[in-house]
Amino acid sequence: MPSTALDIQAIRKDFPILQREINGNPLVYFDNAATSQTPQLVIDAITKYYSYYNANIHRGVHTLAQEATEAYEFARKKLQGHFNAEHTHEIIFTSGTTHSINIVTHGFRSVLKPGDEVLVSAMEHHSNIVPVQMLCDHTGAVLKVIPMDEEGDLILDTYRDLLNDKTRLVFFNHVSNALGTINPVKDMIQWAHDTGAAVLIDGAQAAPHMAVDLQALDVDFYTASAHKMCGPTGIGMLYGKEEWLRMLPPYQGGGEMISEVTFEKTTYADLPHKFEAGTPNICGGIAFGVAIRYLDAIGMQNILDYEDELLRYATKKLLEIPGMRIFGTSSEKAAVISFNIEGIHPYDLGTLLDKMGIAVRTGHHCAQPIMDFYQIPGTVRASFSFYNTNEEVDVLISGIERAIKMLL
Ligand SMILES: *Cc1c(COP(=O)(O)O)cnc(C)c1O
Repeated sequence: MPSTALDIQAIRKDFPILQREINGNPLVYFDNAATSQTPQLVIDAITKYYSYYNANIHRGVHTLAQEATEAYEFARKKLQGHFNAEHTHEIIFTSGTTHSINIVTHGFRSVLKPGDEVLVSAMEHHSNIVPVQMLCDHTGAVLKVIPMDEEGDLILDTYRDLLNDKTRLVFFNHVSNALGTINPVKDMIQWAHDTGAAVLIDGAQAAPHMAVDLQALDVDFYTASAHKMCGPTGIGMLYGKEEWLRMLPPYQGGGEMISEVTFEKTTYADLPHKFEAGTPNICGGIAFGVAIRYLDAIGMQNILDYEDELLRYATKKLLEIPGMRIFGTSSEKAAVISFNIEGIHPYDLGTLLDKMGIAVRTGHHCAQPIMDFYQIPGTVRASFSFYNTNEEVDVLISGIERAIKMLL
């Protein structure tokens, strides 16, 4: 049994928030796809930074500035190792996935020409769809959509038909935050490369749950958000292959990203600083590195195996509830379950569950096109992390049963 590989009760003690009570009930936190909780180790790293060596980085000669710079660059190195990027300078600190995607779409304004084609999948987060639309509006490139089927799988034959020598850029998520689908990214990247297109993968929902090997994937760009990986908000990562990052223009101008500035001409700093204008989220970067080390200590494969058990158990239990419909039934799924119960509005169910201490998300999950596809206003989404348990799933199930009695 893979679950014996993890001591969940010990792990739960690492997360102070899990001791909380909500409306008189122990917190059951099933909104991990929106943001994950923070272990004490990461909270301590944040406290230590501000109480012991807070300073601006890279420019200072004094001790604090050197310590802060070292810690920040050490975190970058941790990310490189964790994601197996070839070079440390291919890791750009950003404020999160949304920022990371915008760096790339902004950069491609100077690459794309009218008539070029850009593909985006039908199961994207708005943070992918909207910047790509803005890029196409700006350049006259044509946006095409990789469709999905009822199960929530991308239709790969159509994807291969859409790829052609005009395709310059392809965007899709590694794991869908609304459906849980794990896309077959390795093949999808390979096919895009065969036609000469570059690929950006939105890894916001995959990076917390599985090992990601950037060199094995051979992907051009990959994004992650620390706050979904036991780190703080306001910090994330853009990985880009060195040749792309050298070619793309900077996103923002300012301090840190320059080499030399005169009023005649400014030259840009080398990678990664070219894309990190201004004083960055220093503490966030350091804490992101600590969160990564925490996940690595638990082991990404252990996390994936354990969460898969949770997913199977919860899916089986939920399907025993009359009127239950699960959206996203791919055979390759991460621990995210979107569902509705016939005759009940997701918002009403979510509100009643909160009264019982159970945190789920309701709504369109920043993926309105998916809701349009199923012709529903939204879903209830329970999303799991490695610190959740089957007992908590049981609490959810009995909570839903109580709510149904009140609502139907
Ligand atoms: C959360 C999420 C995003 C957005 O991440 P931010 O941290 O809000 O920038 C994008 N895509 C997916 C798949 C997500 O789950």
